[in-house]
Amino acid sequence: MFFSKLLIPTLRKSPSDADIISAKLMIRSGMIRKLASGLYEFLPLGLRVIRKVENIIRHEMSIIGGQEVILPLILPKNLWIETGRWDVYGKELFRLKDRKKSEFCLAPTAEEVVVDLVKKDIKSYRQLPIMLYQFGTKFRDEVRPRFGVMRSREFLMKDAYSFHSDELDLERYYQVMFDAYKSICVKCGLKFCVVESESGPIGGSLSHEFMILADNGETELAWCKCGYSATSENAECLKADNCKEELNTIEEVFTPNAGAIEYIAKFLNLPTKKFVKTMIYIADGDPVVVLVRGDHEVNETKLQTLLEVRKVMLADEQTVISITNAPIGFAGPVGLKNANIIADLSVVGILNAVSGANKKDYHVKNINYKRDYDVNEIADIRKSVPGDICPRCEKEKLKFLRGIEIGHIFKLGTRYSKSMNATYLDSNGSENLIFMGCYGLGVTRIVSAAIEQSHDDGGIIWPDNITPFEVLIIPLDYHDNKIRKVTDKIYRELSSKGLDVLVDDRDERPGVKFKDADLIGIPYRITIGKKNLVDGNVEFKVRKNYKGNVELFKFGEIISKVLKIFKK
Ligand code: ATP
Ligand code: MG
Repeated sequence: MFFSKLLIPTLRKSPSDADIISAKLMIRSGMIRKLASGLYEFLPLGLRVIRKVENIIRHEMSIIGGQEVILPLILPKNLWIETGRWDVYGKELFRLKDRKKSEFCLAPTAEEVVVDLVKKDIKSYRQLPIMLYQFGTKFRDEVRPRFGVMRSREFLMKDAYSFHSDELDLERYYQVMFDAYKSICVKCGLKFCVVESESGPIGGSLSHEFMILADNGETELAWCKCGYSATSENAECLKADNCKEELNTIEEVFTPNAGAIEYIAKFLNLPTKKFVKTMIYIADGDPVVVLVRGDHEVNETKLQTLLEVRKVMLADEQTVISITNAPIGFAGPVGLKNANIIADLSVVGILNAVSGANKKDYHVKNINYKRDYDVNEIADIRKSVPGDICPRCEKEKLKFLRGIEIGHIFKLGTRYSKSMNATYLDSNGSENLIFMGCYGLGVTRIVSAAIEQSHDDGGIIWPDNITPFEVLIIPLDYHDNKIRKVTDKIYRELSSKGLDVLVDDRDERPGVKFKDADLIGIPYRITIGKKNLVDGNVEFKVRKNYKGNVELFKFGEIISKVLKIFKK
């Protein structure tokens, strides 16, 4: 294809409201344009990348027996009432009425419609398992649309749904899908990791998120080179090793105007990890005393899960006073009567620890578990921090990285088939609920995440498999007969072997063409100029080696060189 005939409106500068490098580069390279907040147009270059990603996904889905369908984007309210999600989805759901005043929503995901489809046409165990998938636009009225197409209000998702006769078969297939997702990430040239995660409003028992590693990612990840990874919120913590030392006698110390732990630690000349931080929480109305080490923070999600409650929040001053007999800042586990005390794994091993004395302006030194205080439960209830020992290999230190969620797979079980009464008849003729899994992959988000992960000062560096064009030919002067002949010949030969080739035939200065070439990031560039042609040479440059030198090749050699790279 020829640059002069395509709509590739490159820009020298990015618009001021582009808030992340991938959004800036997508706009500057003419891949997308913004229509309104969270709404984007994909131009030819952008669409070519989408199609490449789609094809990689389509291939993997068909290998694992997926059948492609197209589901409606306008979905009737009654289905969403059946599953209870009309209310749960809240403001993120775009709602609308037709001329007869019937209510609908714009699809943010498609569990309801696909279960409705399957329950009408799947009657027997003989028709199971089945996996249906689509590439469909999704609509979500995000609170804060941002980062270009990474978090937009209308985006393209591959959503897949599998249906099974029992849990065992769902578990088997979940693993198959898991592996297919890994393969998609590898083929798209992405550096990624997979983390176990919360299921959110989609529901179900188990889910995994596929994360692209990138500095601008919205999610913080705990990662170990042994292969363990988790969102930092979910990362497990082990109990800490403590130094052995003689137990000293408990001692009350006067700590007037004491404030934060760091301040008292300085005042007493002790490290913060010698402190037992004592926090009073209210869990669904009941007070609990929570102990974590002075240099740690309580992980409220872990606490909530442990206590099996809907909500935990810090207690107000009045409650703190009624439990500890002291104002906030002086709580400690020693002498607390009738309280439900939960200690983090790292607390009970601290020898000669310090805590509040449950008395205004006093702390106690040299407190020791069992000798001076007891607890009701010991559990992992703290936030993981960089440098923690990995909970899997128990050797390496955890690193914290940032990630972008591009895919989320869910083992739903019977969550939807129960509420929508989707059943099948087994071999004995009895009726059973269908088991279900659902699997989302953000196609447009993959495109921006790939750029986030692969760019330099000059622009995008496309991975070979998802690049809009595989080779860019730059004739320095396309009007020159000799240059034109060589350009057309290379173009024809590479195109005829199935490569996507772009020729920059514009009447622009070489500097402009090179700048645009770096910006749009085609991985291989062949430059044809008068000077080198005298010796029958053309220039070859690999986009990854931005500042590197160009290589010279005879033009017959360059064709075989490029074909070899793409294994053609
Ligand atoms: P997030 O936590 O980022 O909002 P989600 O948990 O709401 O994502 P899912 O419902 O699991 O996302 O959707 C599946 C995939 O769709 C996500 O992994 C992501 O790649 C993509 N996706 C979700 N929301 C958006 C959005 N607003 N813009 C672009 N892609 C999105
Ligand atoms: Mg979301």
